[in-house]
Amino acid sequence: MTSNSDAPQKHFKRLRLVLGDQLNARHSWYSKKDDQTLYLIAELKQECSYVKHHAQKICAFFIAMAHFSKALSNAGHEVLYLSLDDSSAYENLPELIQSLMKRFECSVFEYQRPDEYRLLAQLRELKLHSGQASKEYDTEHFLLPYDDIPNYFKEGRHVRMESFYRKMRKRFDILMQGDQPAGERWNFDADNRNKLSKEAIEDIPQPLVFSHPSKEVEARLKRHNVISFGNLPEELPWPCTRQEALSLLSFFCQHCLLHFGRYQDAMTSQTPHAWSLYHSRLSFALNTKMISPKQVIDAVLEHYAAHPELELAQVEGFVRQILGWREYVRGMYWSNMPSYAEHNYFEASRPLPEWFWSGETNMHCLQQSIQQSLVYAYAHHIQRLMVIGNFAMLAGLDPDAVDQWYLGIYIDAIEWVELPNTRGMSQFADGGMIATKPYAASGNYIQKMSDYCLECDYSTKHKLEDNACPLNSLYWDFLYRHQDKLGNNPRLSFAYRNLDKMTDSQREALLAKARQILENLDQL
Ligand code: FAD
Ligand code: SF4
Repeated sequence: MTSNSDAPQKHFKRLRLVLGDQLNARHSWYSKKDDQTLYLIAELKQECSYVKHHAQKICAFFIAMAHFSKALSNAGHEVLYLSLDDSSAYENLPELIQSLMKRFECSVFEYQRPDEYRLLAQLRELKLHSGQASKEYDTEHFLLPYDDIPNYFKEGRHVRMESFYRKMRKRFDILMQGDQPAGERWNFDADNRNKLSKEAIEDIPQPLVFSHPSKEVEARLKRHNVISFGNLPEELPWPCTRQEALSLLSFFCQHCLLHFGRYQDAMTSQTPHAWSLYHSRLSFALNTKMISPKQVIDAVLEHYAAHPELELAQVEGFVRQILGWREYVRGMYWSNMPSYAEHNYFEASRPLPEWFWSGETNMHCLQQSIQQSLVYAYAHHIQRLMVIGNFAMLAGLDPDAVDQWYLGIYIDAIEWVELPNTRGMSQFADGGMIATKPYAASGNYIQKMSDYCLECDYSTKHKLEDNACPLNSLYWDFLYRHQDKLGNNPRLSFAYRNLDKMTDSQREALLAKARQILENLDQL
């Protein structure tokens, strides 16, 4: 259906809203066709501007929404797709809904519960006219039902991901032998920390990419003064239909799963495929709900059953990300919002260095990770956590600014998953509700897990010299600065013992070097 208000007006009993991250074709809403129900899918200025987004992210959402709308129409549903041109007359989503309820004379407004606190509040507070009612549905996407979240998570409390994950394994009978874990181990994390060998780099598969023309959406964004950043290729490489999401899943099983767990934490700049490595790049398809976590896990387990050459460690390493981490961060988000977004345990307040927006820094690890993020709207987990996140925490960058940067730049960034990962896991700004210790590291970690240091102007061997890796002194300065908050953490006792063993002059020299770096972050 077009948005032309001069066309003869059809009336509907029900208006159903489908948000851009609710592209779940298997939702029970669609099991019946009903000419009294109008589905609304709308490109909204408010969603383009609550944070500054990467251009690829906005385009990928809009293109996927348009495909979903077409698929619904083809299946015989009544759909109203509003582009930015159509929706820009409305101040925000509630105003648009109120107006359409009136125009189509609907008596019922229905929506799937948004996964983001901001949108949920907006829809629950929506004012309708008398005689109009609203109804909330589940998105039917996650494994753990929303109403069960309080049984696993309590507001303000630390919950160990590992304990939650084991409960999920048992509850959904995934990788279990009776009541024991398959292979007699719950977790193969220790086997997941290999550096990429020369052969493994050569074997990295050429990533499966898609090609969705972006020009039309780009022109629309310009027309409506939507400010974005990052590279926008003419052809978007991201899966924007369910079929493409399934192809990417199948590609992952065939070409990446074999090495997924083993090289999950590794980083390289030695190949054009360095951005994708053995990662699945399924997060956008999952977070828009084009595919479900259950479907992804089932596909991986089926592939495992049919391919004896696959090791349990690789498969468990992947299942843990979806059944463990993804469901876990959602539980932490919903049991702690809205206060979670305010945490700032270290009272960090420095602005982001300018080069966060260009990647133009001499620190090769950060240059590679940020420039890749700007080019692809994607970085894998360890680049997000141990390169960019580690730097941000050691340098004491303001967690609000860090959150906004992460929420804007990544193709898969939606607050429910971005916030606990960024503010909690990577910045420890929640004081340890997610992580049991800060993910803080000196240059040695990056040297161990990547080849970035080979091409860097700085050297991890040095701490005080002009070419000393800045992460070295920043690491000790961070521990020293926060000794009152971290000094009793048993997982940091080794590091604090080493700090104590330093002579006063050694420590002073390191702190002075860190001070000099912190005063000149833009020059790194
Ligand atoms: P793979 O490495 O192939 O992993 C498979 C899937 O597991 C991912 O698609 C994802 O759905 C899930 N997964 C893995 N780790 C996590 C995790 N820690 N939390 C939730 N799901 C996980 N993920 C997002 O989806 N959106 C975000 O905005 C986001 N922000 C992050 C910010 C920081 C600071 C960090 C450290 C991590 C963040 N993550 C986020 C988690 C993770 O980095 C991405 O899910 C992953 O890099 C996506 O790439 P992939 O699909 O190739 O993942
Ligand atoms: Fe990064 Fe330091 Fe290695 Fe350079 S030397 S790549 S700054 S860890």
